[in-house]
Amino acid sequence: MSTEPTKLAFDDGWQYAPAPESTDHFSIDEQYGLFINGEFVAPEEGRYFETINPATEDTISSVALASKADVDRAVKAARKAYNGKWSKMSGADRGKYIFRIARILQERAREFATVESLDGGKPIRESRDIDIPLAAAHFFYYAGWADKLEYAFPGRTPASLGVAGQVIPWNFPLLMAAWKIAPALACGNTVVLKPAETTPLTALKLAEVIRDAGLPPGVVNIVTGAGETGAAIVNHPDVNKVAFTGSTEVGRLIQRSIAGTGKKYTLELGGKAANVIFADAAIDQAVEGIVNGIFFNQGHVCCAGSRLLVQESVADEVISKLKERMETLIVGDPLDKNTDIGAINSASQLETIQSYLKVGQDEGAVMYQSSCNVPDRGYWCRPTIFTGASQSNRIVQEEIFGPVLAIQTFRTLEEGLTKANNTPYGLSGGVWTDKGAKIFKMTQKIRAGVVWANTFNKFDPTSPFGGYKESGVGREGGLHGLDAYLKLEV
Ligand code: NAD
Repeated sequence: MSTEPTKLAFDDGWQYAPAPESTDHFSIDEQYGLFINGEFVAPEEGRYFETINPATEDTISSVALASKADVDRAVKAARKAYNGKWSKMSGADRGKYIFRIARILQERAREFATVESLDGGKPIRESRDIDIPLAAAHFFYYAGWADKLEYAFPGRTPASLGVAGQVIPWNFPLLMAAWKIAPALACGNTVVLKPAETTPLTALKLAEVIRDAGLPPGVVNIVTGAGETGAAIVNHPDVNKVAFTGSTEVGRLIQRSIAGTGKKYTLELGGKAANVIFADAAIDQAVEGIVNGIFFNQGHVCCAGSRLLVQESVADEVISKLKERMETLIVGDPLDKNTDIGAINSASQLETIQSYLKVGQDEGAVMYQSSCNVPDRGYWCRPTIFTGASQSNRIVQEEIFGPVLAIQTFRTLEEGLTKANNTPYGLSGGVWTDKGAKIFKMTQKIRAGVVWANTFNKFDPTSPFGGYKESGVGREGGLHGLDAYLKLEV
């Protein structure tokens, strides 16, 4: 059977009319300071950097570059707030503040979704339907725990840790901030958080929400900058807990630098998840799952299904249907409600992805890209698959973090399982089959923090999330997420 896509009605000029989200319902300041001790302040060295719209390459705003001295100010403010009101406040009262943050986020959801898409390049449909509602859900969920910590861990007495230093990446900017801040506050800690340098805006708008929710000054501090600012937070001697989400490379550096300091830490790192499709799976549904798994958010997802393992007898059918589906995906303006795949987050990430496209071809895999047009300006990558990839290929082993899928086949369940587990990562995985027994077997043996069955990329604040092997240490979300911000005394 040929795996070339058939010509679709779309090819003859049938198109959706543009449906862009408007940008006139909110404002973005020309310049943002650092949010320290409840107010926006100028950075001590007076340095700023620009944040740009990756879909147009236009500058959106200029943002303070926090120095070591600024980080020290932020940690001091967090310590003062911790020693002052926050650590002594009842859980019920802390919960009220966190509920307030959740509700204000919901009220400003449209603004947050639009800014997230402008600053990060992700389609508005995703920021509107996933990032922002899930971020609010995390605040709601952990607000509910704030006055019930003693019931969460029966027989143990929970105590807060102190100041949490938190560093997050650019792929889910507001959501990652919520994952970090909500449990920290619920457990009675104060926070210094740094968003990624390419997507600082929703964290700065979250600072406004935190101020408007009336949190005592210094309970949450948000400082902007790049790796040096992140390192200054992580290595600050008065930080008691480090929470990092980002690349395995930086995670390793952090683990080394805090070794022996007694700081509690969680590291949420990279991934190279396999979607394993058995011949008895509902194929159309599985193809949709593959598309969702790798092309969702341009493949800028730590738990993306960036490898496809398909049982040999249905490989041609699956690949052919996948190519057909790829032809219907709309790549373009992130603010357009019809867009499936938005802009790549930055020029440097696009360069990384492009270098892997070359690596894959040099390794002998066959590349196929959808034939869609992409805009002239901005950073774009067409949805891409590689067939004929081998287990030792770099495109199979390494995280690309773009809309690029490496496809391999397998014959038996054991072979599929061995291949699924054969990377340094272990963050997530997916299994597609009609048989419950296969689901149980695979989900028990795939060495990953989350394994989805007959679905992919589903998130819930009540479920723990985190990795095995080089995908990280510790869990966020659910009860496990509380544990990471508490001392549990017997
Ligand atoms: P990155 O590691 O380059 O940067 C992440 C954050 O760390 C940024 O805020 C950055 O400024 C900061 N940073 C850089 N160097 C630092 C240092 N030496 N010390 C302290 N902070 C430093 O990662 P990225 O490119 O922004 O994000 C993509 C990576 O994040 C991917 O590998 C992805 O898999 C991972 N990720 C993991 C999860 C998860 O939950 N496991 C979730 C999202 C993203």
